[in-house]
Amino acid sequence: MPSRPSPLSLVCLLLAAASCYAQDPDLAPHVDITKLRKHVTYLASPELEGRRSGAGIEKARVYIADLFREAGLQPKGTNGYMQTFGAKGLGKNIIGFLPGHDPRLKHEIVLVSAHYDHLGKRGKLIYPGANDNASGVAAMLEVARVLHERKAKLKRSVLFAAFDQEEQWLIGSMHFVAKPTVPLKDITICINADMLGKNLADVIRGYVFVLGTEHSPSLAPVVKKAARGLKVKPGLVGTDLIGIRGDYGPFKAKKIPYLFFSNGEHSAYHQPTDTADGILYPKLLASTRLILRTVASIADLPTRPVFSKPTPSVDEARAFVGVLDQLIPQGKMLGVKGTDMAVMNFLRAVAKQAVEKNQISAEQRQILKLGIQGVFLSLRRMLSNMFRPR
Ligand SMILES: [Zn+2]
Repeated sequence: MPSRPSPLSLVCLLLAAASCYAQDPDLAPHVDITKLRKHVTYLASPELEGRRSGAGIEKARVYIADLFREAGLQPKGTNGYMQTFGAKGLGKNIIGFLPGHDPRLKHEIVLVSAHYDHLGKRGKLIYPGANDNASGVAAMLEVARVLHERKAKLKRSVLFAAFDQEEQWLIGSMHFVAKPTVPLKDITICINADMLGKNLADVIRGYVFVLGTEHSPSLAPVVKKAARGLKVKPGLVGTDLIGIRGDYGPFKAKKIPYLFFSNGEHSAYHQPTDTADGILYPKLLASTRLILRTVASIADLPTRPVFSKPTPSVDEARAFVGVLDQLIPQGKMLGVKGTDMAVMNFLRAVAKQAVEKNQISAEQRQILKLGIQGVFLSLRRMLSNMFRPR
């Protein structure tokens, strides 16, 4: 009869299973869900009036700048943390800097960004923008706090930017790229968080979508490793599925590598119903942990990521299979018609074939792209009919 394992060795075994993320030290457990909730609740509260103009958006700026200061970030705006721009200086990006520790690499910068503006008020209706994008700002603030409090000694520097006027044709991030407060050539990557606390189309659970690995394939394994053991799956998909829909746009135009983290569209998107009590905080927590680990890994990479022509990847087909596996069984409940169901089944078969062969052709990818765009266009119509307030 084999000897029984001692209680101590059992504990060790359990601990080894729990810490399957092999980066030392793993900062992810230090992200605090109560802090995320507090940030979203304040930024999306009625007194901030949808963060578009006047006293409302000014309160958001004071809040973010205070937390940058608490996180020990150095001011990197044109006036303290603020980089003012536009007519009468009404636009304000908020920028803070965490110096790196490797003498050879510290001049290189990992940018972590999230837009804090939203749609304001229309008549008496406030658009609180809890998911869009108080959730991304909360994630960014937690990344800054944890790096500071855990005294992380990262090789590269990290720059934090809360961009203004994303909702007005990305003017804040365009201004930053046009008049950068650090040398643009030193920005090794733009990591952008925009909408992290909902499910795609309300029904696709557990995915945070990540755009940009098609231009920097070396980052795909970094993101996948960062997701180990977390309650969120990174869906690595091509940017051309949605086009330029966020602050990564101006960086992409400058051929700077980027990663865009987002849950995608949902029924409260750009609606007065995007309130703090509708955020899935455990999902926001897991997404923030994913971003934190990604930032820490990229800051310590031996060589900086490069930007190249987009290459189709089986990772994308894998994400499509995962999404369609959830969508197809729910089709009836969602009111998807028979012809659309047939299309979804066809797309799943194409995607599955690519995954099984571990390769994808340009033609397969083109079909999948068009098909998925069509599926989500009709889902979007159904969702807006179901949920839009009348
Ligand atoms: Zn938006």
